[in-house]
Amino acid sequence: MSWEDKVRKAEPYVPGEQPNVKGMIKLNTNENPYPPSPKVNECIKGMDYDRMRLYPKADIMPLRKALADYHGIDVAKVFVGVGSDDVIDMAFVTFFYSDIPVLFPDVTYSFYKVWAELYRIPYVLKPLDKDFHIRPEDYAQKNGGVIFPNPNAPTGVLESRETVEKIIKANPDSVVMVDEAYVDFAGENASVLPLIDKYENLLVIRTFSKSRAMAGARIGYCMGSEKLIKCLEAVKFSINSYTMNTPAIDMGVASVADDAYFREHVGKIVKTRERMKEELKALGFTMPDGKGNFVFAKHENVPAKEIYLALRERNIFVRFFDTPGINDRLRITVGTDEEADKLISALKEILEGA
Ligand code: PMP
Repeated sequence: MSWEDKVRKAEPYVPGEQPNVKGMIKLNTNENPYPPSPKVNECIKGMDYDRMRLYPKADIMPLRKALADYHGIDVAKVFVGVGSDDVIDMAFVTFFYSDIPVLFPDVTYSFYKVWAELYRIPYVLKPLDKDFHIRPEDYAQKNGGVIFPNPNAPTGVLESRETVEKIIKANPDSVVMVDEAYVDFAGENASVLPLIDKYENLLVIRTFSKSRAMAGARIGYCMGSEKLIKCLEAVKFSINSYTMNTPAIDMGVASVADDAYFREHVGKIVKTRERMKEELKALGFTMPDGKGNFVFAKHENVPAKEIYLALRERNIFVRFFDTPGINDRLRITVGTDEEADKLISALKEILEGA
C-alpha cells in the first residue's frame, strides 16, 4: 500500500471567485456592499500590536459574552468559531456521528455535502417542493441529524417558525441545526433562536460575514443548550484550542456594540433587494420571494449561463451554479442602490441584444 492509498480523499467546496478587477461590481458571494461599523475601524486603529505575542483567549469569552448579552441568553449557550463554516464543520464532527443518514435538502448550501463526504457521514438529500420549500414530513423519518439553512441558500426561501418547529419536534433523538446565515435579512420573527430553551437538541448557527459585513474577519457562532455547547467545546479543544485570533475577537465585540449601524444597513439591503426583485421581474425574470441578501432569478427566454457570461464581460460578477435543477438561474447578491442600477442597465442591454 503506497502513502497515496492512505490519504484521506476529499472533493472540496468551490467558493465563489474573488476576482480583482478595478471598478468591478461584485455580486457573487453574498458579501455586504457596505463597510462594517465604524466602531470596527476604531478597534483596528487602536490595536496594540504587542498583544500579538500572546495567545488569544482560548474560551473567546469577550465575544461570547457580547453575543450572549446581545441575544439575551446565557454565555454557556454560545459557541464561536472562524466563520460559520468552522462552526458547522465542528458541529458535523460533533453531532453527526452515527450510522444513520443525516438529512438535508438537495438544493442547499453545497458545503454540507462536502463535510458529510469528508467525514464519511451517511446522508440523504431531501428534494424541495416545486416552489423550493422544504417539506417538513421528509424530515420526520429516522435520521442521524438534520441541517438546513433558513432562509435557504441559494434559493433565499424562508420557512416559517412553525414549519421549522415542526421539524425540530419530529426529531427529539437527533441534533437539528438551523443555519441562519441570512436570517437578519428575513425580518423580526424569522429566527428560531427563542426555541433553544424549549429544545435541547436545537443548534442555531449565525455569521458575521453577511449582515455584519465582516466576511474577511471570519467570525461565526452558534447557540444552543448548555449540553450541546459543552459537546462542541470538547471537540473544539481536541482539535485546536485557539481558533479565533485576537483582532477578530476584538472586532467582533466592536461590531456587536453598534446595533444602530447594524440595523440601518440591514434595512438598506432589504430595501434594495425588494427593488431589485421588482426591476428584475419587469425584465422577464422570475424568482422566489427571497429573504436573504441575494435573489435567485431565472429569465423566461435567455439561458442563465449566457447572462452570467455577458455580465462578466462587463465586470459584473454574479453566481451561476452549473448544477442540474438550478442551472437555469443566477444568484445575485444585493449590492448598493448604485450597483443595483448598474446591474439592471447591463441586463437591459444584454437582453435586448439576445
Ligand atoms: N451557511 C450558508 C448557508 C452560507 O451561504 C455561507 C456562506 N458561504 C456560510 C454558511 C458560511 O459563511 P461564513 O463561513 O463566512 O460564516
